[in-house]
Amino acid sequence: MPTALPTLFVSHGAPTLVLDPIPTRGFLRALGQTLPCPRAILCVSAHWDTAAPRLSSALRPQTMYDFYGFPDELYELVYPAPGDPALAERVANLLIDAQIPATLDDHRGLDHGAWVPLSLMHPLADIPVVQLSIQSHLPPGHHLELGQALAPLREEGVLIMASGNATHNLREAFSHGMEEAPVSYAKAFADWLTARIEAGDTAALLDYLAQGPFGPLNHPTPEHYLPLLVTLGAALGAGGTGATGLRLHDGYTFGVLSMAAYAWN
Ligand code: ZN
Repeated sequence: MPTALPTLFVSHGAPTLVLDPIPTRGFLRALGQTLPCPRAILCVSAHWDTAAPRLSSALRPQTMYDFYGFPDELYELVYPAPGDPALAERVANLLIDAQIPATLDDHRGLDHGAWVPLSLMHPLADIPVVQLSIQSHLPPGHHLELGQALAPLREEGVLIMASGNATHNLREAFSHGMEEAPVSYAKAFADWLTARIEAGDTAALLDYLAQGPFGPLNHPTPEHYLPLLVTLGAALGAGGTGATGLRLHDGYTFGVLSMAAYAWN
């Protein structure tokens, strides 16, 4: 049996991550070279939120510029990784088998939650990418179940990668400098998150708003946290209860955005 790939959660910060000389950029570049090379990547981004799960199934997904007011240079970057319609269909079928309705979207491109980190990890854009949407109106447990249904992909050479932010108070971010030291409430949540991930405490991670320090302040909206639960679910697999992960990277931008990254083996 082939070795199962790890599952991965990365924090993507601002879209300018791809241009800014911050440590997370160097981390993502190195990560692409140290992880086993996948056959394809299934990316769960905070920036695709739909009523029910959707899979991007275009053969040549467009690079999306789903952000406003950033330097022109950012809008000129293109990430031309191919899609993988057969993989999109395989993922949809895995979800349907788990009683989760899922459909294909052959118009969807790659949003910045996907292409910004991927362009650092795999700059040659030679690994096919499929995106899976989140459903931020549904509970955290739904996202864990999505991941659990996807676990078989880990043994098919598919890297399940989520892209969100370990903490994400975007409103507060605008009042801090990019390289400011972390504010205490963001650090408290990120440290709690690391401890619960490394302890394999699935119940606490699902109850992050109540149990995580300053939960609602760090995640005023859930979409940058929920992708993490999909990767956790994929690490657990069907019926699994405890999977311990490891923090691969720690850092902050704009004082309130933890750029922590985690992997589950
Ligand atoms: Zn984002």
